[in-house]
Amino acid sequence: MLHGITYLDHAGTALPSVSLIDSFSRQQKRLLLANPHSALSTSPNLTQTVVQGARLQVLKLFNASPDHFDVVFVANATAATKLVFDAFRDQNQGFDYYYHRDCHTSLVGGRQLAQQHCCFSGADADDITEWWLGQDDAQNDHARPKLFAYPAQSNMNGRRLPLSWPATMRKEGRHKNTYVLLDVAAYVSTSPLDLSDHEGAPDFLTMSFYKIFGYPNLGALLVRKAAAHVFNQRRYFGGGTTDMITCNEDTWVARKKGLSESVEDGTGPAHSILALDCAIRVHQKLYGGLEQVSKHTSWLARQLYEQLSSLRHSNGRLVCVIYKDPASTYGDRTTQGATVAFNVYGTDGRYFDTALVSNEAMACKIHIRAGSLCNPAGMAHTLGYDDHELRRVYSAGLRCGEGNSFTGRPLGMVRVSFGACSILDDVVAFMNFMKASFVDRTSDRHDSKTQTVDKQGMKMLAVERRRSRVGIGEAG
Ligand SMILES: *Cc1c(COP(=O)(O)O)cnc(C)c1O
Repeated sequence: MLHGITYLDHAGTALPSVSLIDSFSRQQKRLLLANPHSALSTSPNLTQTVVQGARLQVLKLFNASPDHFDVVFVANATAATKLVFDAFRDQNQGFDYYYHRDCHTSLVGGRQLAQQHCCFSGADADDITEWWLGQDDAQNDHARPKLFAYPAQSNMNGRRLPLSWPATMRKEGRHKNTYVLLDVAAYVSTSPLDLSDHEGAPDFLTMSFYKIFGYPNLGALLVRKAAAHVFNQRRYFGGGTTDMITCNEDTWVARKKGLSESVEDGTGPAHSILALDCAIRVHQKLYGGLEQVSKHTSWLARQLYEQLSSLRHSNGRLVCVIYKDPASTYGDRTTQGATVAFNVYGTDGRYFDTALVSNEAMACKIHIRAGSLCNPAGMAHTLGYDDHELRRVYSAGLRCGEGNSFTGRPLGMVRVSFGACSILDDVVAFMNFMKASFVDRTSDRHDSKTQTVDKQGMKMLAVERRRSRVGIGEAG
C-alpha cells in the first residue's frame, strides 16, 4: 500500500502490516465466532474465550495486573472517554471537571456534562500540584466527585506530559473523591506504558488500537479497580449487561457483576477483538515491542526537527516555525513524542496556508496532516488566539478542516508524525519536498490576498480559498 507514498501521518493512524492482515485472515478462516451471549455462563463458547484472552493480552501489553485493572472494549478512544463522562454525569450530584489545555477535542467535550468545568490553559497550566494542594475534598462539596483529564502525549505537537501526576495528586490523601483520566491514545502509538504501580496509576485510560497497529478499528478503556465503583450509578443498560429486569409496576434491574460485563452494551466486536490479539503478537514479533518503536521513532523525529529548524531561505530567514513545547526536548522520550508540528514561511516572512502545504505534499505523494488538529485549547494557546478572536474568524467563515488564511497569521499547523514502520528515507523525502517546494519562495506568488469586510463590519484579510485537485480531507 505504500508503493511510491511517503506516509508521515502515523498520529492520524498507523498502517497495518501485511503479516497482521495475513495472521488475522488465517485465524478468521479457522475459528467459528458465535454470538458470545449464545453460550451458557457455565460453559463459555470460543468467542468468550478469545475475548477474555485479548483482555489479558491488553493488560500484559501495559504491565497492568488483572487484580488491579479491568479492560472494557469500545469503538475508539472517544467512546472510552464518553463512557467515563456518562458514568460521572450519572452520579447523584454530577461532577466537576478539570482538563489540561493539551486535551484532544473528545476530552474537551466532556465539559458539557459537568456541573462546573475549568480548562488549565494559562501560563500555570502545568502547575497541577499547586492546584491539587489548594483543593480539599472534605471542605469542598464532598459529595460531588471531581475528574481531572489530560493526555499523556499531545496529539498536536507530540509533547509528552508527566505521568507522575496521578501519584502526586494521590499522595496527599485529602482527595478521596477526585479521579484522573489519562488519554494515552497518542502516547502508546509509539511508547510503552507501565502500569505496574497501580497505586500511582491513573483511574481511567483511553486508547484506540488502530493508532498502534493500524488495525483493528477498536478502542479500550482501562479502569483501575479502585475507581470502578463510579460505573455502578450508570443509568443506561443494554443487552448482555443485566441478570434480571422487571418492566411493569416495579421497574427494577439487576446488573451483572464485573465491569466489562456491566458496561459493554450489546454484542461486542468479536472479530475486531480477534484481530487485536493477532495485532499484539505480530507487532511484538515485527518490531520487538513498543520500547524499540519508541527509541526508533524518537530518533527519527529528532532528525527531522534538527533539519527543519535549520532550514533557511537564501536571504537568511527561517523556513519553518516549529511548535515545540518549552518543556520538551526532541530526543528525550519522556518529554517529546515522534511528532513535529510547524508552519511554513516564505522569503517575505509571510506564512503559507496549511491547506496549500498539505495539497502540495499530497501532489508529491506525501501524507501529512494539516489544520486545527483536533486540539482546540492547545492550538489557541500556541498560536496566540483568544476566544473572542476565534469566534470572529468563525463568523468570517472559517471552518474546521479548511484553509486558514483568515487573519494574516496561522490558525492551523502542519503535522508530521512517525510510527513503527517509518524509516530515515521518509525524513529525507520530506526534507527534499520542503526544499524543492518552499525554500526561496515568497508566499505572495501563490496567494491572492483580498481585503474583505465581514458581517460585523470588521476588516479581515482573507485569502481566496485555493482548491487544488486533491482535497485536504484526503491528506488526513
Ligand atoms: C486520536 C486521538 C484521540 C481520539 O481517537 P479516536 O480514535 O478518534 O476516538 C484522542 N486523544 C488523542 C491524544 C488522540 O491522539
